[in-house]
Amino acid sequence: MQLILMNESIIVCVRSYSKYDIPPEINKHIGKLYLFERRLECSKEYSDDNRFESFLNDNGMHTYKNGVAARWAAVKAGLGVFGNNNFLYTKFGSWVSIDTWLVDKELEYDGQAEKIAACPPNCRRCIDACPTKALSGALLMDMGKCVAQLSYFSTELYSNKLIPEDFREKMGTWLYGCDICQDVCPRNKNKWEATERFPNLDALTAFIKLENIVQMDEKTFLETIQPRFWYIEKDGLWIWKCNALQAMVNSDDAEYHKYIKASCTDENENVRKMAAWACKKLGL
Ligand code: SF4
Ligand code: SF4
Repeated sequence: MQLILMNESIIVCVRSYSKYDIPPEINKHIGKLYLFERRLECSKEYSDDNRFESFLNDNGMHTYKNGVAARWAAVKAGLGVFGNNNFLYTKFGSWVSIDTWLVDKELEYDGQAEKIAACPPNCRRCIDACPTKALSGALLMDMGKCVAQLSYFSTELYSNKLIPEDFREKMGTWLYGCDICQDVCPRNKNKWEATERFPNLDALTAFIKLENIVQMDEKTFLETIQPRFWYIEKDGLWIWKCNALQAMVNSDDAEYHKYIKASCTDENENVRKMAAWACKKLGL
């Protein structure tokens, strides 16, 4: 699918990741897009992209990958429409990743893929379900309040501070990302196929347990979690531990109490502060 731009073109590729099996233990902790990370060298998508880029280069084009607003490019190319939750909706629902290539050759636009219906009138399930009210209306979103952003990109985390208390309960059991506004969407109903396994995901599952994260050492973190979920940087084990403590509080499972208490003596000050907040919250 191509979109003509002056003497250049944007090639847009939309792929569904709903073909992959979701390990149930981590479904409510990690956003699905990140579980099936197409930018990992072990993924089929990564090698497909490289082959495609070589094909373009072999045909005399210079390429620039992912340099434009991906959802807008996909909509303009006729590959889908925006849902009120701001995600791109295609025949696969919103469970898609988008890659774009800007090329220095004018290509012929190959037309709209398939007519995709807009959101049903009066539906606002995604807006009502958003736990932090990051979604405040159709196509209206405050990124700073989104759980996904709060879990890995918030200004507080970048300043070595904790997420403000009024967000902590609203973040539920999410550690990295959030799928609520897509999970509740009727347009995603029956769109998850789960026919394939994503490489190396099963081995990771044990490390994503909340009790394992709060006890994790730097070496394990750097070898397992960080290379896979790199938005939290190499010095960010404390962020994972704080997110896990928050998730323990919100899971309302007494099994976690001993790990919360033990975290009160963690070597990292922010982890100790989060553990103290958790103890106070649970009356431990
Ligand atoms: S990803 Fe979660 S927090 Fe962000 S807008 Fe959607 S429901 Fe709200
Ligand atoms: S929940 Fe409703 S309003 Fe939100 S994206 Fe889905 S269909 Fe559209």
